[in-house]
Amino acid sequence: MPSLAKLDQKYVWHPFTQMRDWLRSEPIVIVEGQGAVLKDIKGRKYLDANSSIWTNLHGHRHPKINAAIQRQLKKIAHSSALGFANEPATLLAARLVHIAANNYGQPPQGTPKPRIANPKLEKVFFSDDGSTALEVALKLAYEFTRRTRGPKTKPRFLSLDGAYHGDTIGAVSLGHIDLFHKAYGGMLFRTDQVMSPYCYRCPFNRAKPERQDARKYRRCNWECVSKVEQRFSSQKKRGNPYAAFVFEPLMQGAAGMIPQPSGWLGRVTDIARSQGALLIADEVMTGFGRTGVNCHVDDEVVEKLKHDPRSAKFFATARVGVTPDFLCLAKGLTGGYLPMAATLTTQKVFDAFLGEYEEFKTFFHGHSFTGNQIGAAAAWASLDVLQSPASLHARAELQRILHNELQTLWRLPQIGDIRQVGLVAGIELVKDWGTREPFALKQRAGIRVCDAMARRGVLTRPVGNVIVLMPPYCTTQAQVKQIVSALGEAVAEVFR
Ligand code: PMP
Repeated sequence: MPSLAKLDQKYVWHPFTQMRDWLRSEPIVIVEGQGAVLKDIKGRKYLDANSSIWTNLHGHRHPKINAAIQRQLKKIAHSSALGFANEPATLLAARLVHIAANNYGQPPQGTPKPRIANPKLEKVFFSDDGSTALEVALKLAYEFTRRTRGPKTKPRFLSLDGAYHGDTIGAVSLGHIDLFHKAYGGMLFRTDQVMSPYCYRCPFNRAKPERQDARKYRRCNWECVSKVEQRFSSQKKRGNPYAAFVFEPLMQGAAGMIPQPSGWLGRVTDIARSQGALLIADEVMTGFGRTGVNCHVDDEVVEKLKHDPRSAKFFATARVGVTPDFLCLAKGLTGGYLPMAATLTTQKVFDAFLGEYEEFKTFFHGHSFTGNQIGAAAAWASLDVLQSPASLHARAELQRILHNELQTLWRLPQIGDIRQVGLVAGIELVKDWGTREPFALKQRAGIRVCDAMARRGVLTRPVGNVIVLMPPYCTTQAQVKQIVSALGEAVAEVFR
């Protein structure tokens, strides 16, 4: 075994990993990356089919992002945002607000008008990763609620079944995945959960399984929306309406790549807002184009983008015409290069923290690396790439190719559901598609399939029995074919 692998096994404790299993086999040691390809220490090449845990946007070693980081390094790597401003973070904040104005300014055609007008996102609070972006939103929403409803208020939060918003204690409190959260119950504060629309396994879906995305053939009466409505009205009756509703828009990631049927998000956010709750959108996974390109990208759209390349919508909430009060961004913010996050919010929230020094209305929160210059420089370059017509075209193509390739998997009886939202796909493995019977956890079906994919040169990580495909935007048609056929072959091998 190469000595790096040995050193790793001796010293490194890996995240979300049963280290007993890790120590049993030789780890893959990544040494290089180029585009959608990763290379290990033995010179083997792999496709990065989950964009290095959902972070990478445009591929590894992107020349523009590399150059931006190198340029920044000639000036400074880091100075503190506690007490000082800096060039890249200031420019990035202004650009993010500008992007938000473009994304949310004009709701897409056909989206229903919300009962309560959408707010504007005008302020940016930087932090380090997805968990801290949520932590910031949570604390701001908590304190804003107390300051507007009165100091005796006990702000209460509502999030979705299966919610995952990160691993810091506040973010864990918002989460509802027993496997990750139960053990720490004693350390957490209480939040409520409400049904999320998991059409494939929804108890209200009366449809028999079919060989297509369960959202397409579901038969129900939107009971999931009624559940949200009931939750909000019963909390209101208790005299303490929810302070905030926290959600991943369009698709819940760690819950198992659970997509929302068209119309759900608009309806539930409208209910939440009309009941006085703030909206906290966790776009840590869904942000920066991951949920795809709305329509067919025709020449007219590209032509328009040539003149105004900044007008493409790439937040999931913007695609359904919902502006949150807090927009939490991380992973793809820097193109997946560096740990940097941002929480965008409104002037109204900002104003609630203004006061004389001795009033202590300050938001007492921040991190050593808040507003880091290299991260901000990488983010600026990543946004340049993202807002180019070429990237828009590439994303539209990737979305189409991924869709077409995925259809080939329906032939396998262990494929229960294939759910794609833009450039993200979750493929749920079952014992038999006709019964939807799940594999027992002990069978480690998802892990075994991913191991078999790795042997075929494709790297991804499952969420339970759901295989995640989320390749970088530069992935070519041939590479998508390779990813999907590796998955098909792996399923056939493992369940032979
Ligand atoms: N929110 C969502 C939706 C996520 O997918 C994740 C990470 N997978 C997080 C928050 C936490 O992000 P981080 O791991 O960067 O703290």
